[in-house]
Amino acid sequence: MRTVTGRTDRVVVVGAGLGGLAAALHLAGSGRQVTVVEREPVPGGRAGRLSVDGYEFDTGPTVLTMPELIAEALGAVGEELTDWLDLTPLDPAYRAYYPDGSTLDVITDTARMAAEISRVCGPREADGYLRFVDYARNLWHLERTDFIDRNLDAPTDLLTGNLLKLLATGAFRRLQTKIGQFFRDPRTRRIFSFQAMYAGLAPHDALAIYAVIAYLDSVAGVYFPRGGIHAVSRGMAGAAEKHGVQFRYGTTVTQVETANGRATGVLTADGERIPADVVVLNPDLPVAYRDLLPPTRQRRLSYSPSCVVLHVGSKQGYSQIAHHNIHFGRAWKGTFDEVIRRGELMSDPSLLVTNPSRTDPAVAPAGRHTYYVLAPVPNLEVAPFDWRGDLARRYADDLMRTLEQRGYVGFADGVEVSRIITPADWADQGMAAGTPFAAAHSLFQTGPFRPSNLHRTLSNVVFVGSGTQPGVGVPMVLISGKLAAGRITGGAR
Ligand SMILES: Cc1cc2nc3c(=O)[nH]c(=O)nc-3n(C[C@H](O)[C@H](O)[C@H](O)COP(=O)(O)OP(=O)(O)OC[C@H]3O[C@@H](n4cnc5c(N)ncnc54)[C@H](O)[C@@H]3O)c2cc1C
Repeated sequence: MRTVTGRTDRVVVVGAGLGGLAAALHLAGSGRQVTVVEREPVPGGRAGRLSVDGYEFDTGPTVLTMPELIAEALGAVGEELTDWLDLTPLDPAYRAYYPDGSTLDVITDTARMAAEISRVCGPREADGYLRFVDYARNLWHLERTDFIDRNLDAPTDLLTGNLLKLLATGAFRRLQTKIGQFFRDPRTRRIFSFQAMYAGLAPHDALAIYAVIAYLDSVAGVYFPRGGIHAVSRGMAGAAEKHGVQFRYGTTVTQVETANGRATGVLTADGERIPADVVVLNPDLPVAYRDLLPPTRQRRLSYSPSCVVLHVGSKQGYSQIAHHNIHFGRAWKGTFDEVIRRGELMSDPSLLVTNPSRTDPAVAPAGRHTYYVLAPVPNLEVAPFDWRGDLARRYADDLMRTLEQRGYVGFADGVEVSRIITPADWADQGMAAGTPFAAAHSLFQTGPFRPSNLHRTLSNVVFVGSGTQPGVGVPMVLISGKLAAGRITGGAR
């Protein structure tokens, strides 16, 4: 494994996103003197917080899986997860709503889930589910140590016994094809393959290796921390601070200072110079290269679709919904084609509606409710829509109308506060192509083909976060923190 050369005592981490925080914890745990420089007044980055008139909204991730990775980062400084976070397993993890009016609960407990599938789709489908669980669990075990939780320098690093086993399981076939081997009902096919979208791809384009995402949320479980997902960022930052990590909030880094092929520190917008033996960069990787580092030729990446998030604080409650609700439209392949290939808004939307106040009433004023509606939309490279015009408001109205048609009676009338976040906002926050989901996980942007977490020529500049390996989403970004620290300490594989 390639590692940073020279002294590594003083590390400056730019950005307190979950990736930067995980790196800071692992580095502090290995005795480095760590300073985190964060532009915003709070930690979390995409896992941020929006407070409006007594309503508290998570700005980014809502589906939290694999809390053991948070525990691992906290464990690096000897802290226990339960001292920093109060996690509730969500039961059901999701509720899925189909255009024919049926619903299916996704339940983490395998036996109960088999019974639920049997109820909705029949016993043969439940057998397929049990076979799928075995398949996906095996896939996760084959992928985790060799390909995900590991610094990869070259494609030859992939040549392990597990690669052959993965090939034998059909993991390099298309996800939709593989899912079709276990499920016949279009409803189960959707609920176990839509997660490809998290990797930035349609299920008919993604590789079956991404069945692990469905495994992680549908089988391994989805959790909600008291106070919302932002509590994860606060907990990690609190633990890091307790163990000597210095936080400089409200401080924007404008440049990585370099001399003789090495970074020597960072410069801030206030004109301050913070010296460093190693610089870890958590801003979106292409933007870090573009704005903070000396110019180098960058390869062209293709980006995941983006999303619009509608935050609503409301008088209106709905007893029929769960914490996470997925409303599928009639169209399936066509919806992915619209958003990913054709650069169009969904004509028959599939939406995620999260209702955090159901699990934690403290995120809303007494008797009120919070809703987070996520709609996939094209990124700004595929469709450079003018989201700053009245498109955002019109789209918010469309979303509310769709929700009313899908059973949220009186949704618009219940609204007390609302905010709509669009690709223009993600771009303003420094995310390439106006998407918060980074480069798509196509084959040649995955594993050793994804942008490396070590700078090609500056031997002490390391990247962390969703733009580098292993990839997008809270679990992967937490792993990226450990891998980045490993490049500095030589500790991780
Ligand atoms: C709407 C949405 C929904 C999502 N849903 C899920 C989900 O349900 N489940 C899931 O697992 N994942 C989800 N994700 C993805 C997940 O949130 C991200 O992959 C992850 O949080 C990214 O973390 P990061 O550390 O890579 O980057 P970031 O969180 O972007 O951290 C980068 C940090 O760097 C700071 N920064 C940038 N530039 C500078 C500078 N010049 N100087 C100083 N500081 C700087 C930023 O302020 C930020 O704090 C979602 C994301 C979004 C936005």
